[in-house]
Amino acid sequence: MLYCPKCKALCDDSAVRCPECGRHKLRQPTQLDKVLLVTVTEMEAQRLEPVMQASGIPFEMHASNIDGIPSMYNSDAILSNQSFYVLLPQLEEAEKVVAQFRQQEAEQAKAAAENAPEEEEMPRGKRIAVQIVSALAFILLIWLVVMGTDWVANHLFGWLRGA
Ligand SMILES: [Zn+2]
Repeated sequence: MLYCPKCKALCDDSAVRCPECGRHKLRQPTQLDKVLLVTVTEMEAQRLEPVMQASGIPFEMHASNIDGIPSMYNSDAILSNQSFYVLLPQLEEAEKVVAQFRQQEAEQAKAAAENAPEEEEMPRGKRIAVQIVSALAFILLIWLVVMGTDWVANHLFGWLRGA
């Protein structure tokens, strides 16, 4: 097992460079090394943090933002990830907690999908239909105004000419 001091990732002994950051200077990990456990989205981190706290495993959580944009200015959760770090001796235990967390997340997502079958699809279809009808009604209105003006103009000129 090799350790990258820069991003705190562990990799195979055969690795020439860190799979996370590409750094070449890898070393043997010590028992005091903080190791990258997992990187998750901000939304996931909000749910994982209490799970980790409940497990009793000491951990650190740091934002690993792309471009360093604070997550509060960034509605896209994918761009504001959180990385969890634990000490090497607790890594295995912590990985089990994360695996359990992932399983729970998957089950909850599945349950949510089953409870709401195509509920989001219906309003979208309706909205598009309403937009099409509104567009057609607008075209019809323009046509009526044009035709109406034409009719009024023709009759007015006809009346004026006749007078
Ligand atoms: Zn690295």
